[in-house]
Amino acid sequence: MAIQSVNPATGKVIRTYRAHTPEQVTRKISQAHKAWLSWKQTTFNERAALLRNISSVLHRRKAELANLMALEMGKPIKQGIAEIEKCATVCDYYAKNGATFLADGPVKTEAAKSYVSFQPLGVVLAVMPWNFPFWQVFRFLAPALMAGNCGVLKHASNVPGCALVIEEMLADAGFPEHVFKTLLVSGKEAGAVIENPLVKAVTLTGSTSAGTEVATKAASLLKKTVLELGGSDPYIVLEDADLELASRVCADSRLINSGQSCIAAKRFIVVKQVEKAFTRLFVEKMSAKKLGDPREEDTDIGPQARTDLRDQLHRQVGDSIGKGARLVLGGKIPKGKGAYYPVTVLTQVKKGAPAYDDELFGPVAAIISAKNEADAIRIANDTPFGLGAAVFTNDLQKGERIARLELNAGSCFVNTQVMSDPRLPFGGINASGYGRELGLYGIHEFVNIKTVYVK
Ligand code: NAP
Repeated sequence: MAIQSVNPATGKVIRTYRAHTPEQVTRKISQAHKAWLSWKQTTFNERAALLRNISSVLHRRKAELANLMALEMGKPIKQGIAEIEKCATVCDYYAKNGATFLADGPVKTEAAKSYVSFQPLGVVLAVMPWNFPFWQVFRFLAPALMAGNCGVLKHASNVPGCALVIEEMLADAGFPEHVFKTLLVSGKEAGAVIENPLVKAVTLTGSTSAGTEVATKAASLLKKTVLELGGSDPYIVLEDADLELASRVCADSRLINSGQSCIAAKRFIVVKQVEKAFTRLFVEKMSAKKLGDPREEDTDIGPQARTDLRDQLHRQVGDSIGKGARLVLGGKIPKGKGAYYPVTVLTQVKKGAPAYDDELFGPVAAIISAKNEADAIRIANDTPFGLGAAVFTNDLQKGERIARLELNAGSCFVNTQVMSDPRLPFGGINASGYGRELGLYGIHEFVNIKTVYVK
C-alpha cells in the first residue's frame, strides 16, 4: 500500500511512500522496545542534554520544517516557524523541569522508608493528526522521553514527510537509535499496533471517532490511553466586554492554522445588547485576513489540508444555512486549484445547525445570540465537547467565576484566547477526551506511579 503526500495548494502529489508492512512494523516495535531497555537506565541529566540538542536542531532547521508543513498540509510559513519554535520550547521545558517532576516523593508511614517513584512504562504508541504535524508529536515526545519511555508514531497519512523527518532529527540530535520510530501505516492498521504486547500505552490526538475506536481497542487489552480530541470552543462576549479586544482575539483564535485547530474559537456567544456592534467589528477583522499561498510571508490563511476536508466543511456551512443561519461573509469555494476555503461568518446560528452542534474544522465562525449571561453560559455548555472556552468581560471577578465554576471545559480563559503552553496542563472533558498533556500532569500520564515500601 502507498501513502501519498499531496500539496493542498496545488493538488499535486509531492511524493509517494511505500507503507510499512506488518513485518516491518513488528520489527520496528521490537527495536524500540530493545532501545527502551537501555534508555530507561539513562539518567535525567543524560535525557535532558539530548532534549536540549533536539531543541537546537529544531531551531536550526525551522525554515526547512515550516516549508515542509506548507507543502504537505498548507500551513502558512510564518505560523510554521512559530510551531517549530514552540516544539523547541517544550523540549527545553522538560529538559529543565523533568527531573523535578519525576523526583521520588517521600511519604511518611510506619515503614523505615516509603515513597512514590515514577517509572517508565516502555514503548508508547502516538497516533497523531496533521494539523500541527510537529507540535502534536513533540508535546507527547518530550515528556515521554524525559520519563524514560520510547515512542512509535503513527502520524496522519497526509504528512509522511513530517513524520519521517522527526525520526531523522532525533538521530541528528544524538538520541540512541530506535528510541523513536515512525510507522508508515494507515489508521486501519493502528489496531494491530495496539495489539503488539510490547506497546504499553497509547496517546491519540485527533477526532472523537478515531479516539473512540483506538480507546476501545486499547481498553480491551487493558492499555492506558490519553485522548486529545475535537472541540467546539465557545467564546462568550458579555455586554461589558471590550469589543475591540474581543473581536480581534476572537478572529485570531478562529483562524489559527487556517481554522484547523482543536482549540480555535468556534462558537461566538454574544449577549443581545452588543451583538450588532461585536458582529460589525468581528466581520471587519475576519475580512482583513489574507487567503493565499502558504509559502508567502504575508499569508494568514492557507488552503485547507485536504480537498475532502474542505468539501465537508462547505457542506456543514450549507446545512447550517439550510437550518436558518445567515451567511454574512465568505461561504463560496473560490475558483481555481487547491483546497482553499474563504473566511466565513454565519450569524443567527441555532441549535440543530451543524455550526452549533458539531465541530467546524476550518475558517468558519458561528455567531450565536444569547439573552443574557446565564443564557450565554447555558449555550456555551450545550455541546458534547469540552476542550477550551473563553469569556470576555471588563469585570475580572465575574470572568474568573465563569471560567472557574461555570464553563465545562479543560481550559477556560478570560479576555484572551485559549492557548496551549508547556507550563500548563492541556486536555479536555466529555467528547474532547481525557488525560492531560504538558506541565507536571502531562509527564505523569505514562509512568508507573510506583509505591516503594521498606520495612
Ligand atoms: P483524525 O481523522 O481522527 O486523524 C487523527 C489520527 O488518527 C491520524 O493519524 C489518523 O490516521 C488516525 N486515525 C483515524 N481514524 C483512525 C482509526 N479508526 N483508528 C486508528 N487511527 C485512526 O483527525 P484529523 O482530521 O487528522 O484531525 C482533526 C481532528 O483532531 C479534529 O477533530 C481536531 O479537533 C482534533 N484535534 C485535537 C487536538 C487536541 O489536542 N485535543 C489537537 C489537534 C487536533 P490517518 O490519517 O491514516 O487516517
